[in-house]
Amino acid sequence: MTLAQLPAAETQRLEDLLENIDDLVILATPGGRILYVNRAWREKLGYSQDEINSMNAHDVLHPDQRVLVAENEAKLAAGETLREIQRIFVSKNGTEFQVEGFINYRFDDAGKAEYVRAVFRDVTERRKVEAMKDELIALATHELRSPLTAIIGSLELARRHPDTAEKMLGMAMRNSQFMLDLINDYLSIEKLTSGAAPLKLEPLELSALTESILESARGLGAKTGVTLEMRAGLPGAKVMGDPDRLRQVLTNLLSNAVKFSPEGGVVRASIERDAASLRVSIRDDGPGIPETFRDKIFGRFAQAEGHKKGGSGLGLAISKAIVERHGGRIGFTTGKGTAFFFELPELTS
Ligand code: ADP
Repeated sequence: MTLAQLPAAETQRLEDLLENIDDLVILATPGGRILYVNRAWREKLGYSQDEINSMNAHDVLHPDQRVLVAENEAKLAAGETLREIQRIFVSKNGTEFQVEGFINYRFDDAGKAEYVRAVFRDVTERRKVEAMKDELIALATHELRSPLTAIIGSLELARRHPDTAEKMLGMAMRNSQFMLDLINDYLSIEKLTSGAAPLKLEPLELSALTESILESARGLGAKTGVTLEMRAGLPGAKVMGDPDRLRQVLTNLLSNAVKFSPEGGVVRASIERDAASLRVSIRDDGPGIPETFRDKIFGRFAQAEGHKKGGSGLGLAISKAIVERHGGRIGFTTGKGTAFFFELPELTS
């Protein structure tokens, strides 16, 4: 029995069921014109019935994924059901959702494709939790294991050769401190991104803050003859910010710039106004960021192969979390040399 053949009351109940589930249900023509979408779809994607009437089901796919549609067309036309397919849907206001679901065609008796059935589940939150679990496992297995092994090695040596105890305990201390810093950094990202760490906002003069941090970072460059310069500033220009947190961002960007500068290089800090924002840039003339690493650089524990110079790979992830909590944006341009920048809304009154 088809839906159309059911008594009206039955059809209504089925529709009531579809309207009240959390999964996104779509019926469309084989070309993609939407025939029906349920409440969950409408609410998540934010389109009105009027808009939906003239939409194609593929319109909500992330632009990068439209190519997948063509790839799957042949399989669907051959009667295959595509299961557990992963897609990114973009709502009318630009929010992205990770969804997982199935699609197949309904064929008529003559074997002609009549319509497409698709059901998707929003797995955005689940993916986030999975990513966090993966990271915690990575933290335990990679990042914490090697310093811990080193600590055990040092303690063992100190026990066997008491004359080396002072040196070995010093090494054990440094590695313990590294582990503790790593865990604290990790937890601080968690707190920042979940909103559990409140910012202590106050009006801040950005060029004064930058200059004071530049001053205290000068020592970092001493060993390799790297000098730190303040180029253009905007004296008096202010943002609402948490000074301790922004200090963390600036220190991180400056120490990376020094770390990756060639011997005798120059690191330049500048502040510019861009529309309603103030932009702080930190430039170095280091090797630049490898192309394959660019989209991962703000991830946790991200370190480019061959570009590891101590550190944990958490610094930029923390910086991004801090800047975004301030309603700002962090980014970089790279080629010969790299410029990391962050923008914060300017405080005008
Ligand atoms: P860490 O410096 O502790 O490794 P970050 O998150 O601060 O962690 O940086 C991650 C990685 O990004 C670095 O290991 C390096 O590969 C790359 N990187 C950061 N800043 C620069 C820079 N100015 N020039 C080149 N590579 C950089």
